[in-house]
Amino acid sequence: MFKLSVNCPFCGEEITHDWSEYIVDQEKCSGEVESTIECDEFECPKCHEMFNVFGSVYEAPKGTYSYHELTAEHIQE
Ligand SMILES: [Zn+2]
Repeated sequence: MFKLSVNCPFCGEEITHDWSEYIVDQEKCSGEVESTIECDEFECPKCHEMFNVFGSVYEAPKGTYSYHELTAEHIQE
């Protein structure tokens, strides 16, 4: 359920990936589970530029995908 798509900030390619390996924090709030995703370096399979992906994935209840707020951005120096 963490297999979600983001768009490459360089070429716009839609990248579907299982982001569960980048979960850094998980918080439960009134039946909803928020998983915080932080990926510092992800390489676009199409243009091979590096970018970061961060945001949250929500499950309500746990185990059921609700929605996500993932953002892909250029890496800030
Ligand atoms: Zn790209």
